[in-house]
Amino acid sequence: TSKTTDSSQTKKITKLGLEVPKVAENLGDWYSQVLVKSEMIEYYDVSGCYILRPWAYKIWSLIQEWFDARIKSDPLNVENCYFPIFVSRGALEKEKEHIADFAPEVAWVTKSGETDLAEPIAKRPTSETVMYPAFAKWIQSYRDFPLKLNQWNNVVRWEFKHPQPFLRTREFLWQEGHHAYATQEEAERDVLIVLDYYEHVYRNMLAVPVIKGRKTEKEKFAGGDFTATCEAYIAASGRAIQGATSHYLGTNFARMFNVEYEHPVTHEQLFAHQISYGMTTRTIGVMVMVHGDDRGLVLPPNVATIQVVIILCGVGVSTSEDIKQSLTRTCLEVYNRLKGDNSSKENEIKNSNLLCKGSINIRAHADLRDNYSPGWKFNHWELKGVPLRLEIGPKDLDRGQITAVRRDTGEKLSIPLDMHDKNNQNVQDLLVDKIHKLLEQIQQDMLAKAEQEMKNNVIICHKWSDCAINLAKKRLLLVPFCGRPSCEDNIKRDTAKDDGTAEIGAFTM
Ligand code: AMP
Repeated sequence: TSKTTDSSQTKKITKLGLEVPKVAENLGDWYSQVLVKSEMIEYYDVSGCYILRPWAYKIWSLIQEWFDARIKSDPLNVENCYFPIFVSRGALEKEKEHIADFAPEVAWVTKSGETDLAEPIAKRPTSETVMYPAFAKWIQSYRDFPLKLNQWNNVVRWEFKHPQPFLRTREFLWQEGHHAYATQEEAERDVLIVLDYYEHVYRNMLAVPVIKGRKTEKEKFAGGDFTATCEAYIAASGRAIQGATSHYLGTNFARMFNVEYEHPVTHEQLFAHQISYGMTTRTIGVMVMVHGDDRGLVLPPNVATIQVVIILCGVGVSTSEDIKQSLTRTCLEVYNRLKGDNSSKENEIKNSNLLCKGSINIRAHADLRDNYSPGWKFNHWELKGVPLRLEIGPKDLDRGQITAVRRDTGEKLSIPLDMHDKNNQNVQDLLVDKIHKLLEQIQQDMLAKAEQEMKNNVIICHKWSDCAINLAKKRLLLVPFCGRPSCEDNIKRDTAKDDGTAEIGAFTM
């Protein structure tokens, strides 16, 4: 960066393009440059908090849209709600194991203005203790089951490890689901259904493979019975990262908060079986880490704000005004074809009173700015990770084609402009069809590449002496493990390596 002075303020002018490659030694710098230069985030003057710009927020909105619709449908039929951000000390500290784990990270409000509050109140680090007193009121009889609520909100965890945008932040956005059931079977079934939905978000939206499994006793959610997790792998750092978690809480919280009911026959007082689950904006950071490259972000089409960018190029001083106009017209025509028929879209919205879901329209953008060169635009949209670039220049026009360039592989293809299938009665735009298929292919190839990368790095170790060596090679280890907490402690101790880069994944081993 360099500094220039204008009349009112000192402004930082950031150079276009990344200044560091994506290599392990620079991973932190590379990551923060990618995020700022692609306009995903802006840094903020409270450590561990970041501004999410539209380029990042849209990804979250798309994840939200899919997940929200999914959990509201069969078989879960969850309902959304909202609980307050504040929690009283009494409620927060009710479940002892839970608070023991969260206590160091809880942010407290102690004052209003200059006046001390009579009783400090906490900001939720998660909402079990906020919601379950209400669950206790609402659940009286077995007829009140199952209760399945979700909220989309922010939580605050005053993390002390090195913060990283998206991956480890002090305030983050997430969804938190909280259910209560009469039986353990139903509860456990739903823990795993949710885990599959999380896997779907990673695999099919973010093109990131995950390994599903169960957390160890020491890593499970504090106060719960077991934690199911999906873990992603960041090859550049050689570390796994907890992607999202779904917890079976047993009846532990129900006992503390009196979420109980009377058995219809025996009239015994019984406790509810509960589950909770959460997926955060960390998803976005994992995707960036897995797919980004030396030139910037690489976005999977399913979550890209702009899937296709159209750029007019090959125009020089000698190009006639006629040709320039014709190129502009072609860019706009392609743009409109990709966007789809808006009149029918509007009708669909009017008729159904719903937003168009699963529409075949492509999220396209025509960059027709004349104050930037095509070269500048190529770099700009590459840095921002747009999956497909369409170039339209005088030569393309002569040949009746456009040039498509894939962001993930750099591969170039020519696509005929006029590809209406005249034999087909329902006239289908073959150009749009082709681009649609290309986007699907990119999505699949990105997942396949990440999967291969993960597979190449999984190694089965039978001997303890092989473990540290392979961890140093950034491998994921598949090892026999008894699951005993004392062994877990030993493994952690003997594989920890404090090389100052521990910020990327939760642990060094
Ligand atoms: P938990 O409720 O502790 O199981 O957290 C749910 C999920 O939140 C975890 O699986 C992580 O993927 C994610 N997560 C935890 N801490 C953070 C953080 N500081 N910033 C972003 N995401 C987080």
